[in-house]
Amino acid sequence: MCPGTRACKRAKQDSPGLGFALDKEFYGKPAPAKFKMGVAGCPNCCSDAWLKDLGFFGTDDGFTAVVGGKGGGTAKVGRELAQGLTEEQAVALARKVIAFYRENGQAPERLGATIERVGFDKFKEAVL
Ligand code: SF4
Repeated sequence: MCPGTRACKRAKQDSPGLGFALDKEFYGKPAPAKFKMGVAGCPNCCSDAWLKDLGFFGTDDGFTAVVGGKGGGTAKVGRELAQGLTEEQAVALARKVIAFYRENGQAPERLGATIERVGFDKFKEAVL
């Protein structure tokens, strides 16, 4: 996570608030493969939300959620899933996304590959 409204003048949302909430609930929990999350306080995305399995960045309206990204040698940019989320709504969405990945992921594929295999529309139906 980036420092968000706690230390950055560009911030739109409290990214550490959401980041700590996600860490508290999901850190160390099982998943089919590696699962990374990133939270940024504004669309500059200094914490690379677009390159995480599940990322959030702040806007004037709340948090935007992006899914299916990854870094590394075969980097992939995620896709936008939802906008205007409160911190509570973002955590609730993370619960659904991770539950979907646990049910549908086939190790060692990352979430983005699971979404491609299952279909983005079907994934969206399941988590929104
Ligand atoms: S993502 Fe935005 S809020 Fe976070 S450090 Fe970068 S500029 Fe600041």
